Amino acid sequence: MGRKIQNLIVGCGFSGASLARKLAEELDQEVTIIDSKEHIGGNSYDYYDKNGICIHKYGTHIFHTNNSEVWHFLSRFTRWHPYMHEVKGMIDGQEVPIPFNLNSIRQVFPESIARRLEEKLIAKFGFNVKVPILELRRSEDSELEFLADYIYHKVFLEYTLKQWQLKPEQLDPAVTGRVPVYISRDNRYFQDKYQGIPRNGYTALIKNMIDHPRIKVILNTPFQSVKNDMEYQNLFYSGPIDEFFDYRYGELPYRSLEFEFVEYNQEYFQSNSVINYPCNHDFTRIGEYKYFLNDRSPRTVVSFEYPADFVRGHNERYYPIVKPENHELYQRYTRDADLMPNVHFLGRLGDYKYYDMDKAVGRALEIFNSLTAKEKITHAA
Ligand code: UDP
Repeated sequence: MGRKIQNLIVGCGFSGASLARKLAEELDQEVTIIDSKEHIGGNSYDYYDKNGICIHKYGTHIFHTNNSEVWHFLSRFTRWHPYMHEVKGMIDGQEVPIPFNLNSIRQVFPESIARRLEEKLIAKFGFNVKVPILELRRSEDSELEFLADYIYHKVFLEYTLKQWQLKPEQLDPAVTGRVPVYISRDNRYFQDKYQGIPRNGYTALIKNMIDHPRIKVILNTPFQSVKNDMEYQNLFYSGPIDEFFDYRYGELPYRSLEFEFVEYNQEYFQSNSVINYPCNHDFTRIGEYKYFLNDRSPRTVVSFEYPADFVRGHNERYYPIVKPENHELYQRYTRDADLMPNVHFLGRLGDYKYYDMDKAVGRALEIFNSLTAKEKITHAA
């Protein structure tokens, strides 16, 4: 057994890397990060292919946040390519703005109907308001019910069945609430104050973040394979919490994805970076990577995204399945976690939460702040 590590961090994605940087830089502490993958960056890992196109290995990642602390922290490690994400959904052969908004209504309905629906929506909810589809479905007005049914069937039902093997109402409403009906003419997918793509990619951002003399990174190293050989003072674990406890209460369910990457000998494949296919095909969406950083090439690369069951040892965890019984199982694990004051869980897998990248970073900063606050209290006492 070697020397005791001051801080062991499991996982070198946004969560682990952010925390490592704070511990190393602000507390001058020594940090070792281990990761089971062969690369840094977790599921935000990207790389440049032979055409000079930056490919997101685990599917399209678009950074957006309203958290200025997170934005300014990350901005120390990258410059940003200004990018406002828009998504189109293929609905009955037309590319329609998603989130479904007033422009979508105009596009799919005859003008007289569209105008009435627009007036009704604005009268009932107001302008520039986001309404989750499950809430819109509860409207008592028959015309709004008609609209809600249309959107539910054309945008949400089949996509959600493919993605989760559940109907929208079987999931926590926050899941489909991520993509609300938007009473607006704003076609962007996100309205956050800060949005962009790291100018040299996500991997470069993470690499800069962990480039610090007090941070050491060991790849290809699952925690399970070293946990009996490594001694640590503090452990920050962004791997799956159920795995940490050897699945003592059972496995937390996840959804996975499979990507079929295809290169085409043409400049562009589709009109937009992401096109969703809610009702057709087995894939949910197609991402075309050169759009994100405006990479120039006579060729293009796209990924067809197929939802899949997560099977341990066979594929990756992508999405916690947010519904009450899974949350209860997760809470059994957190009760055990609370008994270990030197072990902290973070990240999508550690917290079993559907975090976006900014939320993962925000959580890492929060853990760091609470640790330093505690230390200040201990020192003062
Ligand atoms: N969703 C849908 N149709 C769409 C887009 C989203 O039904 O065209 C639902 C679906 O259940 C999806 C959820 O909204 O899993 C969240 O979508 P988001 O685009 O935020 O998913 P992510 O990019 O995180 O995979």
